[in-house]
Amino acid sequence: MTETATRAKSAAQETEHFDVVIVGAGISGVGGAYHLTKQCPGMTFVVLETQASFGGTWLTHRYPGIRSDSDLYTFGYRFKPWTSAPIATAAEILRYMGEVIDENDLGPHIRYQHKIISASWSSDKKLWTLEATRTDTGEAVRFAANFLWMGQGYYRHSQGYTPAWEGMETFKGQIVHPQTWPEDLDYAGKTVVVIGSGATAATLIPAIAAECGHVTMLQRSPTWFRTGRNAIAIADELRELGIDEAWIHEIVRKKILHDQSVFTSRSFTEPEVVKQELLAAVQAYLGPDYDVATHFTPSYRPWRQRIAFIPDGDLFAGIRAGKASVVTDEIERFTDTGLLLRSGRQLDADIIVTATGFDLNVLGDIEFTIDGKPLVFSDTVTYRGMMFTGVPNMAWVFGYFRASWTLRADLVGDFVCRLLNHMKDIGARQVTPTLRQEDKDMVLLPWIDPENFNPGYLMRGMHLLPKRGDKPEWQHTQDYWTEKDQFPAADLDDGIFVYA
Ligand SMILES: Cc1cc2nc3c(=O)[nH]c(=O)nc-3n(C[C@H](O)[C@H](O)[C@H](O)COP(=O)(O)OP(=O)(O)OC[C@H]3O[C@@H](n4cnc5c(N)ncnc54)[C@H](O)[C@@H]3O)c2cc1C
Repeated sequence: MTETATRAKSAAQETEHFDVVIVGAGISGVGGAYHLTKQCPGMTFVVLETQASFGGTWLTHRYPGIRSDSDLYTFGYRFKPWTSAPIATAAEILRYMGEVIDENDLGPHIRYQHKIISASWSSDKKLWTLEATRTDTGEAVRFAANFLWMGQGYYRHSQGYTPAWEGMETFKGQIVHPQTWPEDLDYAGKTVVVIGSGATAATLIPAIAAECGHVTMLQRSPTWFRTGRNAIAIADELRELGIDEAWIHEIVRKKILHDQSVFTSRSFTEPEVVKQELLAAVQAYLGPDYDVATHFTPSYRPWRQRIAFIPDGDLFAGIRAGKASVVTDEIERFTDTGLLLRSGRQLDADIIVTATGFDLNVLGDIEFTIDGKPLVFSDTVTYRGMMFTGVPNMAWVFGYFRASWTLRADLVGDFVCRLLNHMKDIGARQVTPTLRQEDKDMVLLPWIDPENFNPGYLMRGMHLLPKRGDKPEWQHTQDYWTEKDQFPAADLDDGIFVYA
C-alpha cells in the first residue's frame, strides 16, 4: 500500500464529526467560536488552524512596529472591552485574543497545526468532509461537519505579494517582504529602501528609522494618511470618572463609529475639504517647506483605499529628523546596488523591503467540491457578502475594510448563529442560498464596487471573488450602518434559503 493510501485509510477510520467546523483561529475564527458557545449552546464545533497558535494576521506579521491601524475599541470584539490606547501592537492584540480564548474556555476547541486541504460537500449525506494535514507530524486527518464557518481571512499567509521587477536577481543586497520578515535581519546603520506607502510601510519605517543609516519610502503614488494622538479623549475622561470598562467600551465604540460615519460621508460629499484637512495635518508635522503636494497628495478621493492612521505623527517625525525620506517615482529596474528609477535617479540600498501587499486567497487554498464538482467561487452570487449561491451550509467572514474588520465578524457571527438555530428549529440539515425567480435577471456586479473601494490586492483578485447583485439581499455594501440593522432583520424564510 502506498504512503498516501495508508494515510487515507487511517484518516477514513478516524473521521471526527462536528456540527460546525470553523476554519482559522484569527479574529474571525475565535470570534465565531465565542458566538457559537454563547448563542448555540450544545452545538459541537472545532476550530482548525494551520499555524501553531491563534491570531492569524497578528501572528503571521512580525515586522518591526507591527500594529493595528484601526482603533481597538472597534477592532476588538463587541463582547470584550478594550482598556488601553486605541492603536495596538500585534503583541497587545494577541494578548487580548488569548484572554478571549481563556475566559471563554475556547482552547479545548482549537486544533493548531491542522491545515485543511480539501472540503467536499455531499448532498446525500448533507455533510462536508474535510481532509487536513497535521503540519507538525505530516499525518492526514479527516473531519466531517454539518456547517463550515470560514474564518480563513482573505490573503495567503505563507508569503506576501512581490511584483516581478527587471534585474531583481542582480541586486547584491537583501530583498525582504514584511510578511516574511527574517527574525535576525540586521538593519542597524544600513541604507534601507521600503517600496510602498501603505499602512505596512507607514508602521515599519518609524520603527526602524532610528537604527537604520537612512530609510527611504519609495512610492509610485502617494497614500492618504490621518494623524492624531494615540488616545481617545472620551475614554480617558470616563476612566478618570471610574466608569465601568464595559460601559466605556460601548460608549467609545459608539463615538468612534459616529465620527467615522461623519468622516466617510464627508469624503463623498465634500472630498476637497477633507483632502485639505488631511494635507494640513501632514504639513503641520513636516513644516511649511515640505513638498506635500508631490509626496502626500494622492490622485484618488480619500477613503477609496483604507486611510492609514499615523499615531502621534511618528512617520513624519522620522522624515523631519532626516532619518527617513520619501521618493515619489517609479522603478525602472533593480541594479546590483539598488534601484534605477524612471526619472533616471539611482537609489542605493543595502536592504530593499517590498511592502507591496498581499496575495488574495479567497478560500484558504482549500480545494472545494460540491457533489464531486469543483466549486468555482467566482461563478457564485453572494448573499449579503457572507454566503454564496449553490454552496450549502457555508458562511465566510469577510470583515469591513474601511471600518474595523471585527465589527462585521460580530454581525456575521450573530447571523450564522441565528441561521443555525433556525435550521435546528425547522429540522433542516441543509441550507443553500439560491437566486429566486425574481432575481434571475438581476445585474451581476463585482464583489466590491471598485468605484467605492479599490486597493491593489482586491483589484488583482476581483476575478476570483463571487459576484454581487443589485438587490439588498445580494449586495455586499461594506456599510456597517446598513448591515447592523439589515442582518438581524433578514428574513430566513424569504425564498432565498432553500432548506432540505
Ligand atoms: C499587517 C496587517 C494589518 C492590518 N490591520 C488592520 C486593522 O488595523 N484593522 C482592520 O480592521 N483590519 C486590519 N487588517 C486586516 C486583517 O487581516 C483583518 O482585520 C483580520 O485580522 C482578519 O482576521 P481573520 O481571522 O478573518 O483572518 P486572518 O487574520 O487572515 O486569519 C485567518 C487564519 O486562518 C488560517 N487558515 C487559512 N487557511 C487555512 C486552512 N486551509 N486550514 C487551516 N487554517 C487556515 C490562517 O493560518 C490564519 O491564522 C490588517 C491586515 C494586515 C495584513
